[in-house]
Amino acid sequence: MPWTLDALPVISRISMLTKQLMSTLFLFAHPDDEFFCLPIIQREQSFGSHVVCVYLTDGGYNGQSIERRKAETIAALDNYGVNTEDIHFIGAEVGIPDGELHKYLELAHSTLETKCKNLSLQRVFLPAWEGGHQDHDACHAIGVILCSNLGLTYALRQFSLYNGYQCRYLFKVMRALPNNGPVERVNVSLGSALRYLGTVRHYPSQWKTWLGLLPFAALQVLRSRNYVLQMVNVDRIKERPHPGMLLYERRTSVRHEDIATLLGNLQDRLR
Ligand SMILES: [Zn+2]
Repeated sequence: MPWTLDALPVISRISMLTKQLMSTLFLFAHPDDEFFCLPIIQREQSFGSHVVCVYLTDGGYNGQSIERRKAETIAALDNYGVNTEDIHFIGAEVGIPDGELHKYLELAHSTLETKCKNLSLQRVFLPAWEGGHQDHDACHAIGVILCSNLGLTYALRQFSLYNGYQCRYLFKVMRALPNNGPVERVNVSLGSALRYLGTVRHYPSQWKTWLGLLPFAALQVLRSRNYVLQMVNVDRIKERPHPGMLLYERRTSVRHEDIATLLGNLQDRLR
């Protein structure tokens, strides 16, 4: 068919259909979590995938401005070609507080399920099951339960943000837990690594957090020159992420057992 004006609606319909067939979901707990998988987002874009980012909490921890955090993440993702209409802050929409996702598992799951209904997902990326932040683990579990029900567990990949594995006082950033299985490395050039790290400039409201995280992230990315992904074993959400005290157990009153009980309840209700 020649490229005429008459052909445009057809092309548009094909394009829309392709979008439906090839969506990649990035599931996050908080605005700025995307920092930890920027090359993966970019890689999916280069595959021609329709990238959709969903945030499960409102990001309003400690009185933070929810609107400001949303705007910061939109600006960060805009650099990587993610359309604003493909960024969904469902935690802010339905009122899931930052830090308390484990108490809103059913609401987060059902809202996410509705949001995904019109997407044909081919890959799903989510925070690792690593005991770093209670919301990251809850987000992981919600994604695993959703994909299990959709028969999509093969499509799941997890990326590490931070955890307290084998650290008594500090923490590790972007380091995959051995218990989560084999690692796939996504290599990045020095220029790309610096660009990814520079994305932190879009999060001025979080400067205190990034003051602590960025040096470790930079050390990890510049030294290894790669980002790591792991497949997801759906049975892992029945286990402690790693032996010993978890990072969120050190920093908050939330215990892994609390999350495990609430997850068990959700799974029972969905059966
Ligand atoms: Zn986070």
